[in-house]
Formats: sequence, structure tokens, C-alpha cells
Amino acid sequence: IETKLPKVGTTIFSVMSHLAVQHRAVNLGQGFPDFEPPQPLRDALSRAMANGLNQYAPGIGTAALREQIALKTGRLYGYEVSADSEVTVTSGATEALFAAIAAVVRAGDEVIVFDPAYDSYEPAIDLQGARAVHIPLTVPSFSIDWQRVRDAITPKTRMILINSPHNPSGAVLSAADLDELAAIVRDTSIVVLSDEVYEHIVYDGAAHQSVLRHPELAARSIVVSSFGKTYHCTGWKVGYAVAPAKLSAEFRKVHQYLTFCTFHPAQAAFAEFLASTPEHYLELPAFYEVKRDRFRKLLAPSRLKLLDVPGGYFQLVDYSAIRDEDDIAFCEWLVKEGGVAAIPLTPFYDKAPGTRLVRLCFAKSDATMDAAAERLCKL
Ligand code: PMP
Ligand code: GLN
Repeated sequence: IETKLPKVGTTIFSVMSHLAVQHRAVNLGQGFPDFEPPQPLRDALSRAMANGLNQYAPGIGTAALREQIALKTGRLYGYEVSADSEVTVTSGATEALFAAIAAVVRAGDEVIVFDPAYDSYEPAIDLQGARAVHIPLTVPSFSIDWQRVRDAITPKTRMILINSPHNPSGAVLSAADLDELAAIVRDTSIVVLSDEVYEHIVYDGAAHQSVLRHPELAARSIVVSSFGKTYHCTGWKVGYAVAPAKLSAEFRKVHQYLTFCTFHPAQAAFAEFLASTPEHYLELPAFYEVKRDRFRKLLAPSRLKLLDVPGGYFQLVDYSAIRDEDDIAFCEWLVKEGGVAAIPLTPFYDKAPGTRLVRLCFAKSDATMDAAAERLCKL
């Protein structure tokens, strides 16, 4: 058959995790915590299964979980949403991103994405017969040059996809960035898709600038988050999308035929945990800031140059003092010879700029960090 996705191979996350196992490397590549979700959350999941919540959930998500998401959104971002018409529970943020793109983007449309861009965006755009328009972020701050965005808008621009805190750089958008975006999309029919899966992981006392804090943008946005990131359970695959009722209605048309519904027991567990323990997500910045600072201290004696990390759980490092080769070659060498798996940035780019940067995940226990740092400091 003729491939619909000629540019797509196996995702770099699977490739690097496989190599990590093969070479017994410390896996700082694919982003996932190597510690457990909170015990009460795991207990709630077991209880939900024991109590018979083992059949289909309501397609849009359980009322209890949607209610908790709406409460959180109001509390954190001052934005009141209707749990009935504006919140949809999805099978991870990956599904939400795909459903949002499929619901809004038509054949021939253009979608603006910022490179380096998370790798699931472009295939979802391509499958609609649409085109991703790539705008590189300005290195090393990984900030958006809004003039370039203005210049890239055409009558075909249907969507702008933003991601803050940003994967892989950890860069965060400011309130001023959101004002710039609002001014650009004003008087257009452009929909904003905002990937905020690291919304609770922002450092140094900064507040996450959710699109939901910006009423004008919120009125035309689909905002996506992931419980996998917030509750250290990436394998449960539960996320959600918040969007105005009309957009949510379109989103739900796709969601109902993509998965129909999401894993029911986990929805009950999250609803219970969110209601009983809101402090968990409030304490997440401090929790990860300790990890970030510990990891950076461990790597200080190495020959890696550390970039700033304002958010998320990834550390970008410049390896040019160690080897003069592209990032994919470096990651292959590092996993085989250095015993550490990392993620190169090239797969996140349409046109890779040839920077000597790779991504290391620090959502790890002290023992994993120590083992990785010992190896990285020998390079
Ligand atoms: N967007 C970004 C920026 C991510 O980093 C991830 C997960 N690594 C996702 C979306 C997907 O989230 P989920 O695992 O909930 O599907
Ligand atoms: N989002 C994770 C990362 O950036 C990986 C998720 C996946 O493997 N698809 O590492």
C-alpha cells in the first residue's frame, strides 16, 4: 500500500527506550517517572476495579472527574468552565491532540507549529491532508518570535499549536506572549490548540500562563492536559481537553469514534484523588524543583553545558565539548558507550538547525540520577 505518512518511522521515544534496555543504559530518554504514583491514588484505582467499575465509562468522561477538572480550572486559572459541555476526558493527551486536530483541521489547511515540536503533532496534521507550517523557536531561550508568526499567517491558517511548558526545552510562555498571540488571531477564525501537559511543573515561583487565564484566547482554544504527567502514571493514559461548548462538541464527535471512552477505573480514582488531595498538584513545582536542582548539581562537574530549565522535567545539555557529531550520532554513542539514554532534538524539527543539544529526563529517583550522573561525568 502507498504510505500515508512517508516521513514517519518508529518514534524516537520507542527507539531510545529499546536501545536503553539493549545496552543496559540508564534511561533518561523517554519522559516518564521511575517512581510510583501516590499510594492513595493507586488504592483508589484498585478499589474502583474491585467495586465493579469495569465497563464503559460515559463517552465524554465520568461526571465526577469532569466536575473535578472544572473545579481545578476555576481555582487555578480563574476560568469557570461547564463540566457538562466544555470538559472531555481522553485517553492521554496524545488522543486529545489528535482529536482536536482531526475535529478542526481540514484538507488543504495550514497549522502553525513551533520547532522543536513534540513528535505527535505533525503526523496528526498530515493525516487530515493539511500542512504543518514550521516556525523555529529562537535558541537558546526557545522563545517565539511573534513577527515570524505574523508573517506566516495566510488565509489557509486554521490552527496555531502552542506548548508551554515546552517539550523538549522547558521554556514557558509569558502573559505577554499570550497577548501577542491574542492580537494575531483576533478577527480570524484560527483555533489555538494549547498543549499544557506540564502545566503543574513550572519553577522559580513562576505561575503557569495557561491559555485559560486569557479569556479572549480561551474562547477560541482547545487546552490539553495529562494526568500521566501530574500524577506520575504515564502508563494509565488519561488526559483531558477543555474547550468552549461549540469546539468541545466538534472535539467530542471525533473522540467518540476514536476511543469512545477512556479507562473507567482510572477516572474514578482521579476524581477521588483530585477531590481529597488538591495539594498534590500544588506541591508539584517544589517536588520537581528539588529534582531539577539536584540533577544540575550532579552534572556541574561534567563537560556538559546545562541550559536553563524554567519548566517541565527535561534538561537540555550541550555536548559539544565532548564530541563533535550530530545529536543522533551522539545519542547512539552515548547509549552504547556512555551507558545513558538521551533524546536527540533533530526528530522534533522539520529542518534541524544542527545544534549540539540533547534532552535528559530528570523525573527520576535519586539512585537513577546518581547512576546517570556518575556516567555522564566520566565523558
Ligand atoms: N504533549 C507533550 C508535550 C508531551 O510531552 C506528552 C508526553 N510526553 C504528550 C503530549 C502526551 O501525553 P500523554 O502521555 O498523556 O498522551
Ligand atoms: N512525552 C514523552 C516524552 O517526551 C514520551 C511519550 C511517548 O513515548 N510517546 O518523552
